[in-house]
Amino acid sequence: MATLKPGSADSPARPRRRPPAAVTIMRRATFAAAHVLRREEWDEARNRAVFGACAGEHGHNYVLEVGVSGVPEPATGMVVNLKDLDRLMRQAVIDDVDHRHLNRDVAWLQGVIPTAENLALAFWHRLEERLPDGALARVRLVESENNSVEITR
Ligand SMILES: [Zn+2]
Repeated sequence: MATLKPGSADSPARPRRRPPAAVTIMRRATFAAAHVLRREEWDEARNRAVFGACAGEHGHNYVLEVGVSGVPEPATGMVVNLKDLDRLMRQAVIDDVDHRHLNRDVAWLQGVIPTAENLALAFWHRLEERLPDGALARVRLVESENNSVEITR
């Protein structure tokens, strides 16, 4: 274990500290949506066997967390203005999915089985194309108390 010794900041013996690898600011948004997990080409028994209760129509109160990384701007102390990030999350994702049926109502989810994994990936792509290169660091989608998916760069 390392010993902690008080030292003066300008002591020549003090090792140089490395800057943090990344500063990530997180923003959270919620939405409610219905979905069903099934493959039309499979019969009911196979859909039930693979997707369980999710093979029937149901809904979730989802929580979406988005992390943006960068260097805080000296003038504002912000990596990104949370007002702007919130607006971007609404325009790219929330406005299209809130109070919708994810299998039927969302053009950019057509043909996608709306598992938490697939939803998080679709959200990642829509957010990434609206942010500066490399800025999107994390997408976390909480589907239920027990299930969540996280995508990191
Ligand atoms: Zn579900």
